[in-house]
Formats: sequence, C-alpha cells, structure tokens
Amino acid sequence: MSEHFETNAIRGQMERTGYNEHSAPVFMSSSFTFESAERMAAAFAGEEEGLIYSRYNNPNTDELVAKVCALEGAEDGVATASGMAAVFSSMAAHLKAGDHVLASRAVFGSTHQILTQLLPRWGITHTYVAPEDIDTWERHIQPNTRMLVLESPSNPGLTLIDLEKAAALSRKHGLIFNIDNCFATPYLQRPLDWGADLVVHSATKWMDGQGRALAGLIVGSKELIEPVRFFTRHTGPALSPFNAWLLSKSLETLAVRMDRHCLNALELARRLEQQPGIQKTLYPFLPSHPQYELAQKQMRQGGGIVTIEVEGGIERGRKFLNALQMCSRSANLGDTRTIVTHPASTTHSKLTETERLASGITPGLIRISVGLEHVDDIWSDLQQALLLSQ
Ligand SMILES: *Cc1c(COP(=O)(O)O)cnc(C)c1O
Repeated sequence: MSEHFETNAIRGQMERTGYNEHSAPVFMSSSFTFESAERMAAAFAGEEEGLIYSRYNNPNTDELVAKVCALEGAEDGVATASGMAAVFSSMAAHLKAGDHVLASRAVFGSTHQILTQLLPRWGITHTYVAPEDIDTWERHIQPNTRMLVLESPSNPGLTLIDLEKAAALSRKHGLIFNIDNCFATPYLQRPLDWGADLVVHSATKWMDGQGRALAGLIVGSKELIEPVRFFTRHTGPALSPFNAWLLSKSLETLAVRMDRHCLNALELARRLEQQPGIQKTLYPFLPSHPQYELAQKQMRQGGGIVTIEVEGGIERGRKFLNALQMCSRSANLGDTRTIVTHPASTTHSKLTETERLASGITPGLIRISVGLEHVDDIWSDLQQALLLSQ
C-alpha cells in the first residue's frame, strides 16, 4: 500500500491469474471449488481463507472492498448491491428493538424512509437533529441511544456536519458514529480520520461516476464490520461480481475525475452567484457558504454538487428543468454528464411541505450535479434555461 490515494486506487489490484493479465478479469462465478472435502470443511469452519460462494465473497468484490478500505483508511468492509443496502445493513446489523438513533434531519430520502417507516416496526426509534447545530445534539441523547446517523455534505442542501465534534460526542456517549460519505467520496473527505466509526457509500454516484451501476459499501473497524458481514451474508444484498469489477476500474480515475468535477463546480458556483434571478447559490467552497471554514477544514475540495434557489417557486423550478437542452433531467448524480434535478417535485416529493422545509428543501431549489463537459457549455445551457423559464 502506498501513502498516496491515486496509487492505491490503481495498484490495489488482485493477484494475477495464470494468464498474467494486466487488467483484472471478471469472475462471474457463483461458487468456488475445493481440492478435497477436508479443505472445504476448513474453509467453512473459517480455519482457512478461501472463496466459497459469491454471496459471501468473490475476487472482484474483495478487490473493490480492499481498495475502498485503503482509500478510506479502514480495516475492513463489505460491498452491497446498492447504496441503500449499505445504509440499511449498517443500521440493521447494529441495532435491536428498544434502541434509539440520533439522526441528522438532512439525510437522503430513502434513509429518511428507513428511519421513519421501517425501523419503528422493529421498535427502533429516532430523533432528528439540525446538522449545523451540533451543540444542541447532546440534550437529545437518551440512555438507549446507540447510533448517530449522519450525512455530510447533505443531499441536496449541502449542509455540513462538524466531524470532529460529532466524533467527540459519539465517544463520550459510547455511540456508533455512522456517516454517509457519498457526496464527498474518500478523495475529498475521510470521516474515519476524524473519528467516525462506520462509513457508508452509494458507489452508484461519484465512485462509479459514469452512471452505469448500482453499488454500496460499508467500511470501518474489524470489530464493527463483523456484524455487518454476518448480516449481509445471511440476508443477501450481495454486489454482483460484474458491478464490483466495473467499480474497481472506476476508482482508478476517481481522483482525476473529482479534481475536474470540483473545478467545474466551483467555477459554475462563482458564475451563478453573480447571476440575477437566483436567490441563493450554495457550494461548500464558496466563501458565502455558511460553513465555509468547516468545509475548508474537513474537505479537500467542495465536491461536484452546486445547489441554487430560483425565484418563482415550484412552477419556476419545473420550467427551468424543461428549458434545459444539454444537461440531463435524471434522478442520479455523480456522472460525467451534468444532471439537474428539482427535489421538491421528485426525490423529496413524498415528504410533507413541513418536512421538506425542515430538511432545507425549498420549492425553488435546484440541484446541479456538475459533470465533466466543458464548463462553458454547462454554463450556456444553465443561462439559456434561466432566461427561457422566467
Ligand atoms: C443515492 C444516494 C443513496 C442511495 O444509494 P443507491 O445506490 O441509489 O441505493 C444514499 N445516500 C446518498 C447521499 C445518496 O446520494
């Protein structure tokens, strides 16, 4: 392992097979064979390391997990079929009836559904706290509070959580500090370095970065990953070897892609901030972001998402989306192609207006996932759509 992100993302490759291939092959095999009944028994007993069945492990998923562990600075990890499988498994593996979760109000839409609709069925309760007001969190900690469920920067409001303070609070009360690092990727932010316990990812987004595959990851200490591995082994949200292979290739270019995404995003954010008709432009590395200093402290760069607030509310938001000619109208983010969404009418439409406002989603809020097209072309499209939708 190198001390450098780029090298680990590229050279953290599995051993070559007898063919001496340069690039890792795909192992589309649901199971693996054994030389003898004794070795098979030893593998099942955990006495010998060995590949058994692809719901447990596979060379491609193992390669992907090992790389992400190196990039996040984690001991161990598990790959899942989607980001939500990772989010759910990280909670389900560690929580039981009677437990309480302290969660940031600004979590991903489906994470919100897990907390409010699913976990209560199994007697697990939660309290939402304001992500930016960390000093108010402690009073909501109960004797049965077991986990912090956080996301930073948040989707789509780009609110940050002070990772160092969250870790101090978590340690003081013996909680598991679980954070969704999807928006930052390990290239821009390493929560474990600040004291987080579990990092989850939707690798579907920037990690793949090309809009091709769903995948999730959970990394942390050996001790905290072991129950997660037990949970995923026996409940089965396994990542396909093909998607793991694809993702591992994607990681080879993560650093260079993120550098350009961030460069384009910062440039667009600067231009949008000067543009009349936009009430607000949010980007963590714009000095006008309310948590600019915190962003500078815990992130390498500001990420690929820029959020704007257009005048004219929900109707204007829709018109703006319809007027786009190059940028995609799509639910995804973290792609080479710029994607523009209007959360109030799509991803967060199932929340009530009050819930939306509490998570910072105003009617005219537009999320721009800045792609790798030339920045001037993205800018022209946004500008003409702003004019046309007035
Ligand atoms: C997309 C997303 C998820 C869910 O990931 P999937 O791969 O779509 O299941 C979770 N958290 C965040 C922050 C996301 O953006």
